[in-house]
Amino acid sequence: MARERLYLFDTTLRDGAQTNGVDFTLADKITIAGMLDQLGIDYIEAGYPGANPTDTSFFAERHPMRAKLTAFGMTRRPGRSASNDPGLAALLAAEVDTICFVAKSWDYHVRVALETTEEENLASIRDSVRMAKAKGREVLLDCEHFFDGYKAKPAFALACAKAAYDEGARWAVLCDTNGGTLPHEIERIVGEVCAKIPGDHVGIHAHNDTEQAVANTFAAVRAGARQVQGTLNGLGERCGNANLVSIIPTLKLKSDYAEKFEIGVSDAALSHLVRVSHALDELLNRAANRHAPYVGESAFATKAGIHASAIMKEPATYEHVAPERVGNKRKLLVSDQSGRSNVLAELDRVGIAVDKDDPRVARLLDEVKEREAIGYAYEAADASFELLARRLLGKVPHYFDVEKFDVNVEHRINAKGERITVSQAVVRVKVGDEVLISVAEGIGPVNALDLALRKDLGKYQTFITGLELTDYRVRILNAGTQAVTRVLIESKDETGDHWTTIGVSANIIDASFQALMDSIIYKLVKSGAPA
Ligand SMILES: [Zn+2]
Repeated sequence: MARERLYLFDTTLRDGAQTNGVDFTLADKITIAGMLDQLGIDYIEAGYPGANPTDTSFFAERHPMRAKLTAFGMTRRPGRSASNDPGLAALLAAEVDTICFVAKSWDYHVRVALETTEEENLASIRDSVRMAKAKGREVLLDCEHFFDGYKAKPAFALACAKAAYDEGARWAVLCDTNGGTLPHEIERIVGEVCAKIPGDHVGIHAHNDTEQAVANTFAAVRAGARQVQGTLNGLGERCGNANLVSIIPTLKLKSDYAEKFEIGVSDAALSHLVRVSHALDELLNRAANRHAPYVGESAFATKAGIHASAIMKEPATYEHVAPERVGNKRKLLVSDQSGRSNVLAELDRVGIAVDKDDPRVARLLDEVKEREAIGYAYEAADASFELLARRLLGKVPHYFDVEKFDVNVEHRINAKGERITVSQAVVRVKVGDEVLISVAEGIGPVNALDLALRKDLGKYQTFITGLELTDYRVRILNAGTQAVTRVLIESKDETGDHWTTIGVSANIIDASFQALMDSIIYKLVKSGAPA
């Protein structure tokens, strides 16, 4: 049976840019658009020309790509003609083939926010679509507050969508702008709309205010909509938009959808989904959500021992899809709840060959349990676990010794009379017979220590130049009788690999030092640095 084409529309660069704390530069926008294009998205909405300088310059030139780059803007203002509206002119000047208009479709908003009549609102939709069509553009209409509008006055909401369709708009997009509509309502209303406008001209734009944006999107698809809008990682105002990173694998891997629909994302592109999701986080300088469906670090992680032994035999016992399909990895967490099978599986995954009856495996497990009792958490620190295992199995070269370090924090008033805090670290490292002393200033004591440690490692320096600290997390816990500090450090290197290391101590600097040392040593082991 021929599958129906379902179109993906990404609005990370427009609706996603409304997110608190998100501010894309022009270069960011170009990078993200390129990423989305490679992924196989059909439409990439890149911004609102005329609304801000970044978007205006983005649309001032053509960015050739396979996807249809889309400019967003308002329909003509009430009481003005389409040919005499500066906003519309800016939109039509954008170097794109596709335009997405937004218009009111809730009578309440037309009256209160727009202060005009329903007829004038419909005329504005018709005129704007007609004008853009005349200029040769493909046109979409975002029907703002469609579902609330439909509940209040179905005939008017529908008339707005229909006006666009009748004028030749390719898509009438039904927007749940406030994000409060529930899946069963979406399914009913989209079904009613699709009886009047063919579903292959109807789109869905859902927001996540009840944590159901993805479910609402699928409800609309079931009811007939054939374009889905969303953002990478669910970025968007308030609680976000529908998350395309969850929608895409569901469309590709769940037979109910995969057998019925074809999308522009190939199997090969799907296998890079984790990378795409992380690339956006990195661009935004955010830590990735470990628990994100499909792409999170924990999405295919198993902790308890009995599950782990079953997973090793038959992955399907505890996995709803194969992690490799989206570029993720199966992960068996090593913790005080683990059995031998987790430890063995994890050793196997990192490439340490050991016989399953080797007594050192039991010793490693005991060591993990003892350390977790005092505050370590190896399930969150894969690289520290690997080092612990390699040390017990006698496989970590002795690279260098930190003979001494000294960190100080000075608070003083500078020459301009401002209060400043300066941190400085001095580290004395012995590499072979060579003693190296490094001094560094940092924005805080841990940063200063990190910089000093990595400043000069003698013959090992070339191995760590690509090492970068990407995340630093601190927790105070009560382990046994005293409060201790647990530090988790995430690092990456020039190959794009990420790893996490841990340190635990009553002293935050000491805990950080342990985690930093593990990260450096892990990098040396990984790079095959000689002893
Ligand atoms: Zn929106």
